Amino acid sequence: MPNYIDKEVKFIIGKKMDACFAAFDKDGDGLLSIDEFEYICRALFRNDRGKIYGVDEKQLREIFDIFDINSDGFIDSKEFEMCWNRWIKICTRPRSAIIVVDVQNDFISGSLNIKNCSAQHDGLAVIEPINNILDTVPFDAFFHSLDWHPVDHVSFIDNLHMRELDESSPISRDNAKLYDTVIFKGKYQLEQRLWPRHCVQDSWGAELHKDLKIVDKAIKIYKGTNPEVDSYSAFWDNKKLAKTTLKSQLDDKNITDVYICGIAYDVCVGATAIDALTSGLRTILIDDCCRGVDLVDIEKTKERIVGCSGVIVNSCQVKAMVEGRDRRPELGYKLAMEIKKSLNNNNKKIID
Ligand SMILES: [Zn+2]
Repeated sequence: MPNYIDKEVKFIIGKKMDACFAAFDKDGDGLLSIDEFEYICRALFRNDRGKIYGVDEKQLREIFDIFDINSDGFIDSKEFEMCWNRWIKICTRPRSAIIVVDVQNDFISGSLNIKNCSAQHDGLAVIEPINNILDTVPFDAFFHSLDWHPVDHVSFIDNLHMRELDESSPISRDNAKLYDTVIFKGKYQLEQRLWPRHCVQDSWGAELHKDLKIVDKAIKIYKGTNPEVDSYSAFWDNKKLAKTTLKSQLDDKNITDVYICGIAYDVCVGATAIDALTSGLRTILIDDCCRGVDLVDIEKTKERIVGCSGVIVNSCQVKAMVEGRDRRPELGYKLAMEIKKSLNNNNKKIID
C-alpha cells in the first residue's frame, strides 16, 4: 500500500476536484482505473484520527460501476465530475439533522413507562446524552417527534370495545391483554399492538420531558393523530396512508444525513430509522441515546438498520461525523446506491 494517499487526502477534503483527479490518476492517462479509485476511497473513508476504514471489494466495484457511466472500465474526468459533485462532496460535507424521537413524559414516568416493559430500560437515561450532543454538535436541523394521540386512538387497550376485531385476529377481544397484537376489522385489517392509554393530545403525558433541551430552531413533528391508524415512525403512519411533513422539511434544508435517537428503540426509533433509509437518507442511530421495550426486538432493530446500510454509533462519535472528519464507508455505499437509483429512474424516463 503506497503511503502517498495520506497527503492526497487534503485534495479530497479541500474541495479541489481537478487536483484530486490529477493526484489519484497516478499513471497520468487522464482516466481513473478501479485501483486508482480504490485509493480515493482509502483517502475518503477514514475516522477522525486518519485511520482507514476498509471498503468491501464487491461494494467498491458496485460504486465504481455507477460512476463509470459509459462502462468502459475507467472513470474519465467528465464522469469524475458527477462522482465529485454528487458523492465525494456529500461524503466530506454532509448536511445533518438530528431527529429526537418521543422523549415524552408518558414513556419515562407516565402511563407507558418503558421501565415496566420486558427490557426494563429507564427512559430518563437518554436525556443527558441527547442534551450533550444538542449542545456540542453543529447539526444543520433539529427535529423532535411527539406521539400525539386523540382520546379514541386505536392503540389504547381501553378503547378495544370501540372497534370490531377481524376474524383473522390471533387474539379475541375477551382474551386480549396489554402488549398483545390484534387485528381490527375494516378495509385496512389493521394489525395493532395494544398499549396503555398514552400521549393523549395536550396532556402532561404527551409533553416532552422538562429536562430535555429544545434548541430555538427545533421543529416538532406530531404523529399518531389519526384515531384509526397508529404511527410509530415520524415519517409515515404504520399503514403508509399519510405522511408527516418531516421528509419535505428535511428536503427543504438539503439534509443528507439523519441521526436518530430517543424512545422506544425497537418501536418508534426503529420505525423512524427504517423509513429514513427507505426515503434515501443516510441514517445513523445513536445507540446510547436510545432506550427500548424488548431486548430481542432491540437487537433485531439494529440488525435491520445495519442490513440497510445504516450505521449505529455512540454519541461520542457523532460530532466528528457531522463535521465530516469521520467518514463511514457504509454511508458512502448507501449514497452511491441512491445515485444509482436516480440514474436508473432518469434512464427509464428517457426511454419512456
Ligand atoms: Zn403511541
